Formats: sequence, C-alpha cells, structure tokens
Amino acid sequence: MATDPAVKIRREATQMRVEQAGVSKRSIQASLKKTTREPKGIEVGYQAFLVSLQKQINALIREALPSLYSTLDLARVDALRSDGLSDDVVTAFNALRTSIRNLSTKTDGVLRIGVQDFGNKTAQFNDAKYDDPLMHLIGIGDVSANIEQSILSGWVTENTQLVRNMNVEQTGKLETLFLRSLRDGSRSAQVVGEVATILGPSGQNINRARLIARDQIGKLDGQLSRQKQTEAGIQGYVWRGALDGRERPSHVAREGIHFDWDDPPPDGHPGQPVQCRCSAEPDLSFLGEEFAPEPRSESDFSQTTKAERRKSLNIQARQRRRRAARNRAPTAAR
Ligand SMILES: [Zn+2]
Repeated sequence: MATDPAVKIRREATQMRVEQAGVSKRSIQASLKKTTREPKGIEVGYQAFLVSLQKQINALIREALPSLYSTLDLARVDALRSDGLSDDVVTAFNALRTSIRNLSTKTDGVLRIGVQDFGNKTAQFNDAKYDDPLMHLIGIGDVSANIEQSILSGWVTENTQLVRNMNVEQTGKLETLFLRSLRDGSRSAQVVGEVATILGPSGQNINRARLIARDQIGKLDGQLSRQKQTEAGIQGYVWRGALDGRERPSHVAREGIHFDWDDPPPDGHPGQPVQCRCSAEPDLSFLGEEFAPEPRSESDFSQTTKAERRKSLNIQARQRRRRAARNRAPTAAR
C-alpha cells in the first residue's frame, strides 16, 4: 500500500520527536502493554446495572398480572351477557393495552442515564490507556473531542435501543396474548401457562441483558481505540488477545499478528466480533527496532490457551508441510 505523503511527513516528525525524547525500550513496551488493558470492571458494572433494570421490569410485569387476569375474567362475563363487545369490554381492551405498553417505558429514563454513564466510564477508561508520555509524543490520545463524542452518543443510542427493543418485544407478546384471549373469551386460568412461557423460566431477558453488557463495552472501547490510533496516523495494530482460555481459537491464532486499520480480518477489528475481548496494540514498529511488538511471555497465556495455540500452530505447520510436499511432487504423479 502506498503511503500518503501527508502521513509520511507526519511519521517523520513523530520519529524526530521520539528520537529527541530518547524513550527507553522498557518504557515503550510498558506503554504499549497499557493500551491492551481490558475494561473488565466496567463490563461487570454494566452487567449488574442492566440485570437489575430487567429485574425491575419483570417485577412490574408480575405486579400488573393480577389486574390483567381479572380484567380478562370480567370482560368474559360481560361478553357472555351481551351479543357483541360492549363499551365496557372495549374500554377494558384499551386499558389493558396501555398498561402493558407502559411497563417497558416506565424504566426508560433510568435506562438512558445508566447507559450514558457506562459509556462515559468506558471513554474515560480508554483515554487513560493512551494517557501516557510516549502516546502523547506520537499524538495518540489527542483525539478530537467531537468525534469521540459522536462515537459515544451513537453507542448510547444503540444500546438504549437494544435494551428497549428487547422489552418492547416481550411486552408486545404479552399484549397480543391478552388481547387475543379477551377476544376469544378465554379464562385467566387458560392464559397463565402462556404468560410463563413468554416470561421464561429464569427470565430470558435477564440473560439477554447479560449478553448485551458483555458485548457492548468491548465494542465501544475498540471503536475509541481505532479512532485514536487512525487519527494519529497509525496504519495498523498488533492483535492482542485476552489469552485466558475463554477466547475463540481463531482469535488466539491472531495473537501478535499485524493488521491494517483499513483491512480488517473477516469478523472485524478487535472488540467488534460478538463478545470479543481482544484489543489492538498500536503497531509503532515504523519508529524503530525498539518499538517492534514483543511476543507475549509464557506467563501471559493460560493453560487452556497454551494447549489451543499449540494445536492451531501444529495444524498450520502440518498444512504448510502438506503444501510444500504437493509443490515438490512431479506434475505427472498428481
Ligand atoms: Zn477476540
């Protein structure tokens, strides 16, 4: 890939600044390692927040159920007495619809404030990863505040929407069930089983909230890192994994490998694939040998990861050998 002249000039200026500052290799590697920190604490907090919100919504639903059931029974008695739907039933119908719809909007304010708060915390965490003399020298971290703000507000909107949709979907199912039962003249006892299925045995929406939390903090952190690095003219990064044994084997295999920011792997840059906790260490090797990414030490790998990595490296070696053998084989023998 041809390097843009403006990028070239900026790189040379950076090289000069770094040379003049005379940063030691040890501190360079420490600064680089700092950029791969995982926002684990924020993720745990976000999970707790979303789960408690879902519990509140579930409690609201449970609280509303008795009156929904009695509306159903009353409307049925009323409908049996007259020919069609009386005004009372229509009123009950509408009240039912409104009360179910309100369940998911009652917590909207809390949701928005909470999501914004965890977004801010993640942005601060990301800032701290790059708040370092070397990174400032290179210009990473001095990212334009308004771009960061727009990434953050996009994330807040998306997250609020994800949680809201999940609840609207659930209350929508309840609404359909109750309205249908009202029309069919079902007894409340006939509906109880279906309500339980919609709410799920252990709260399906609680599990989904956990998944959202696990996925979204890493995504935002990754997006902010990408913005900071590309804005500073960093062409690519070194893939760094969590290496704790819970990582996808395909990501473990990428450990220490360079990727260009404008040429992502098939499933995206670190943090973008679902629940990915990997990170992008800025590749500063253009600044000199001492900036080259260092291989992780043995102690950074968990036992499971070590075994998996060995396996994947063996497979790669076997494939290489097979390819080499095939190339060596005379054409006639194929
Ligand atoms: Zn990953």
